[in-house]
Amino acid sequence: MEHSLLFAGALVLLTGLSLLFLGPLGPVLLGGTIVLVALVFDEGRGTDDARPDERTNCPACGARTDASRDTCRHCTAPLEV
Ligand SMILES: [Zn+2]
Repeated sequence: MEHSLLFAGALVLLTGLSLLFLGPLGPVLLGGTIVLVALVFDEGRGTDDARPDERTNCPACGARTDASRDTCRHCTAPLEV
């Protein structure tokens, strides 16, 4: 929460500065650049974040096993998701 508030403040500050130095088109250019950067970062993150959710701990023996499986790979106990 604190981080997003900091981000919002920096955004308003940057918008004001771009308006001062670049004129009416400044905030438009700045907004477009930020949206582009956010899109690029989201794409890069998507592949890494999907990994941990694909595995789960077996409730019976605690072994790491694929979440898509119905039974544990080690002790064949049924997996609860
Ligand atoms: Zn198990």
